[in-house]
Amino acid sequence: MITAVYRVPLRTRFRGIDVRDGVLVRGPAGWGEFSPFWDYDVTESRRWWAAAREAAVQGWPDPVRTSVPVNVTVPAVDAARAHAIVTASGCRTAKVKVAEPGQTAADDLARVEAVRDALGPRGAIRVDANAAWDVDTAVARITELDRVGLEYVEQPCATLEELIALRRRIDVRVAADEVVRRAADPLRVDLREACDVVVLKVQPLGGVRAALRVAEAHGLPCVVSSALESSIGIAAGVALAAALPDLPFACGLATVALFTDDVCSRPLLPVDGALPVVRPEPDRIDDVAADPVTEARWGARLAAVTAR
Ligand SMILES: [Mg+2]
Repeated sequence: MITAVYRVPLRTRFRGIDVRDGVLVRGPAGWGEFSPFWDYDVTESRRWWAAAREAAVQGWPDPVRTSVPVNVTVPAVDAARAHAIVTASGCRTAKVKVAEPGQTAADDLARVEAVRDALGPRGAIRVDANAAWDVDTAVARITELDRVGLEYVEQPCATLEELIALRRRIDVRVAADEVVRRAADPLRVDLREACDVVVLKVQPLGGVRAALRVAEAHGLPCVVSSALESSIGIAAGVALAAALPDLPFACGLATVALFTDDVCSRPLLPVDGALPVVRPEPDRIDDVAADPVTEARWGARLAAVTAR
């Protein structure tokens, strides 16, 4: 299989990283992306490799829609910047990062209020706390943030037990992300009392088909989100969103906007709040090629993940 390693700086620090890198692989079915974050070990990275292989070797199931509504993703930036990001996006739904280490509840509230101002009363706002809160903190923070009206809160607490306890104390919908995708078996997590929405990510779940099985197993409304990939990885997320029987919420797939550059000259960025269901070609691989040290690190990682 042909491989290429890319490395692109982010516009704003996001989930603790400033630069995104990964491997693109090409097989008979087209290009796939293998880009587990560096804090993922070999075992967890195997699912990410299965997703890349599926894209390159097998291809994806047929779509049932031709475009996918998406949200703008707002990192833990100040209120003025948040307002500008939402306004520039053209999206009618925003996902706002909250509970960033080193920031306060007031920072979160100011950011979410600025996003509401930018979206107007009919826009939808969801927040993602990345499992940062205990139950009491989550109740307090969510109640405060819901003054602007929240569509749902994503992974407010870390464990299933906490999500169940929290959900009995708030009216806002709860979406499960980490608790599903980092589970030993995402099909067998008992989500019945823990959430109202399931977040699906193609690479962490092992591919489009594997993610469709997770959706089917839980029978809950699903949202497809990215793992902060280049347009090649995003295309797999779009394929999943396009293949889901029901898609009641905008998806978190507009994250190429967080990159300063991309592997494609026509990156998968939203127009009018939606992404087209397309399979882009990485025609800018040379322009965003990683340095030799990064390339060697990915070579070693790929060898470890594919070793028997
Ligand atoms: Mg999340």
